[in-house]
Amino acid sequence: MIHFLRMPNWDLIPNLIYGFLERNGGVSARPFDTLNLSYRVGDDPASVKSNWHRVKNRLGLDGLPIVTLKQVHGDHIVTLSNPASKDAGEGDALVTRTPHTILGILTADCVPILLVDPSTRVVAAVHAGWRGTLLGITEKAVQHLKAHFAVHTENLQAALGPAIGGCCYEIESHIFERIQARWGPDSEPAWSSHGERGNLDLRTLITHQLYGAGLKETQVFRVGPCTSCSPDFFSYRRERKETGRQLSFIGWLS
Ligand SMILES: [Zn+2]
Repeated sequence: MIHFLRMPNWDLIPNLIYGFLERNGGVSARPFDTLNLSYRVGDDPASVKSNWHRVKNRLGLDGLPIVTLKQVHGDHIVTLSNPASKDAGEGDALVTRTPHTILGILTADCVPILLVDPSTRVVAAVHAGWRGTLLGITEKAVQHLKAHFAVHTENLQAALGPAIGGCCYEIESHIFERIQARWGPDSEPAWSSHGERGNLDLRTLITHQLYGAGLKETQVFRVGPCTSCSPDFFSYRRERKETGRQLSFIGWLS
C-alpha cells in the first residue's frame, strides 16, 4: 500500500495536490525496496517505471506528468510554465502556477520542502541537503516567488518533509563552520558539536532560514520523522549509500 504524509490545513486549498510519499507499496527489489522512484540510483528501470505507474494510479494522476529534476545539490530554480515534459533538466527547485503541473522532488535524507501561496496560486518544491542549505536554496526560492510571482511572504506556507534529523546526521565540523560563516546565529540552533564532528539538523537550519526570509512560526511546518530512524523511508546514510529515493510532490489539478 502506498502511503503519503499530508498537511491537515492544506487540504482546504482548492485544487491543490501534494504529499510526502513513504517507501512502501512498490515493486523494486533490495536495496531499492520497494517504491524507488529514481532512475539514477542503479535500480531496474522497469521497476522504477512500474512504481511511477502505481503512484499515479494511487493519486489519480493518469496522463498527468509529475515533473522532476536532475538534482545536483546546487541552487538553480526552474520555473515551469507548461506541463509538457516530465523532465525539467538540472536544478534543485521547481516553481509553477500553471494548472495540471505537478512538481516532484526525490530524496533519501535530504530535505524536501514544499511551498504554497494559496492567494497567487504559486507552488514550489525544493531539494536541500547541506550543500543546498549552505547556498540558501530555500530562502532563494522564497525570494524568487516574491520577485517573479508577486507573492507576499505573509501568504506563504512551507512544509519540510521527512529528512535525516540531528539525531543521525553527523558531519565534520569544518562543514558546519562554512554554514555558520554564511548564516551566522541563524545556524546555531541546528548544531551540536562534539569536537572534530557534530550533529546537524537540516530542518531546523532551513526553518531558521525561512524565518530570516520573513516567514513566521505559524507558516513553517515539519512533516514526518527522521528518515534514518524510520524504516518507512529511504535513508542514504542508514543504507550506506545504496538505496532508493522517495517522492515529495505538489501542484495544481486545475
Ligand atoms: Zn534519526
